[in-house]
Amino acid sequence: MNPPIATPLGTTRRWKPAPLISGALALHAGAAAAVVADPSTWPWAGGSVIASHLVLMAGGLWPRSAWLGPNWTHLPATAGQQIALTIDDGPDPDVTPRVLDLLDKYGAKATFFCIGELAQRHPHCVEAIVARGHAVENHSQRHRHTFSLQGPAALRREIAAAQDTLTHITGTRPLFFRAPAGLRNPFLEPVLCQLGLQLASWTRRGFDTRSRNADTIAQRLLRGLAPQDILLLHDGHAARDAHGVPVILAVLPKVLEAAARAQLQCTTLRAALVPEPAQAARSQMTL
Ligand SMILES: [Zn+2]
Repeated sequence: MNPPIATPLGTTRRWKPAPLISGALALHAGAAAAVVADPSTWPWAGGSVIASHLVLMAGGLWPRSAWLGPNWTHLPATAGQQIALTIDDGPDPDVTPRVLDLLDKYGAKATFFCIGELAQRHPHCVEAIVARGHAVENHSQRHRHTFSLQGPAALRREIAAAQDTLTHITGTRPLFFRAPAGLRNPFLEPVLCQLGLQLASWTRRGFDTRSRNADTIAQRLLRGLAPQDILLLHDGHAARDAHGVPVILAVLPKVLEAAARAQLQCTTLRAALVPEPAQAARSQMTL
């Protein structure tokens, strides 16, 4: 399903609890009221509260779910014949420059979800991403595996630190956030609302941090490729093929050639906020 565009991104917006969150809050209140009115109902009340927590946890463990709040799994329908390549976990001084050369060769634009700490270590890589017309977005400051176990204050610190780091290097504030490994909890969406960020996941991923076979990864990404898809690859933590070459470098040409055959252009997530006809009109005006 195509996402509605939460406008304007980049500014604080009011948090509206997703239906599942409102339901869980109401259930908690109902269970508490039932136990106060009749203490013998506690096994039922306790059981339903535990069940609601399990459902919320499942929503957080499923990266593509919108159970906890809005989540881009596709570009908006206004993106027309465009798809988005998203490239996570960098920058990596060995891999990112070679990825940029490949993207230039095919005239494709991509969105790089960068880790703040790595961006601080390799700012020249991040500057190169932006200088070559791509977008840099927020993938947390430290990319901790315990990210989804944190409370609201710790989540805010982690995401705000990456906002500051990436804004300082690029001069542009990220508009999108992707959770480490896509794992979340119900505290995340209110923090994203506060920071003016939109959660983005993907339509399909190649599992290219684990798979070493470029053909298999490309097949996973290209199965049913359609307009407005968001594909996930990695320049950081990239698996290496049998020759020690980062596998993304072999996957990208396959994906970009397939996209060209299907007449799909690769755009960035933030460029897709502007409907495609407006993009075309704008580029004509600058000719
Ligand atoms: Zn990641």
